[in-house]
Amino acid sequence: MKGAGHRAEPAVVTHGEQRFVISVRPSARARRLALKIDPRRGAELVLPRGVSRRRGLAFAAEHGAWLAARLAALPEAVPFADGATIPYLGQPHRICHLPHTPPKRRPGPVWRQDDTICVSGRLPHLARRLSDWLRHAARQEAVSRAEAAARRLGASFQRLSVRDPRTRWGSCSAKGSLSFSWRLIMAPDAVFDYVVAHEVAHLHELNHGARFWDLVDQLVPDSAAPRDWLSQHGAALHRYG
Ligand SMILES: [Zn+2]
Repeated sequence: MKGAGHRAEPAVVTHGEQRFVISVRPSARARRLALKIDPRRGAELVLPRGVSRRRGLAFAAEHGAWLAARLAALPEAVPFADGATIPYLGQPHRICHLPHTPPKRRPGPVWRQDDTICVSGRLPHLARRLSDWLRHAARQEAVSRAEAAARRLGASFQRLSVRDPRTRWGSCSAKGSLSFSWRLIMAPDAVFDYVVAHEVAHLHELNHGARFWDLVDQLVPDSAAPRDWLSQHGAALHRYG
């Protein structure tokens, strides 16, 4: 994972009547000026070494129309808050804050009940509690799917972790460690299954050749639909939390 890096003061770019706050990131590695749109962080100007902030902001202003269009098209961020709706295995669930301690029979401070995710305890802790619970649920789902898939292929894995990478949904190391985005817990079942099948197939084939795809096909009936889903809707999963 890349570090947070050095961030300069954000800047304001105007386009007609509109004003946008963009973040400015000096980068030693970047070759050219670039504007990037992140679903959670908004617009970011990448400033290569030796290019002044002033020139960078002039570049951003030249692309004001592009910025306006891209920012307007961004799905709105959905923070974890009482009353918000988030998907859980593809189904919308409402977040409900219950300030009282959970009844004894509940397994913990967060539980799922029909299409509601209940979070008990004090309100300032809701987002962190829900986030911990979702990561835990994602790991459990990933482990059971990966164990089943590995059994079917006669493969085994060393470790399984859940993280929050910006662009990847899963990975498989040469040593047999699997890693998944916790955000897959929000994706439909078939999408989660496919990503796990993909990484488990890498335990045998660390490439994307024909033999690799044969293994994936053995594990999931149709990998085209979940791949399409990820390319169309995957980025939007980054707006939650
Ligand atoms: Zn792959």
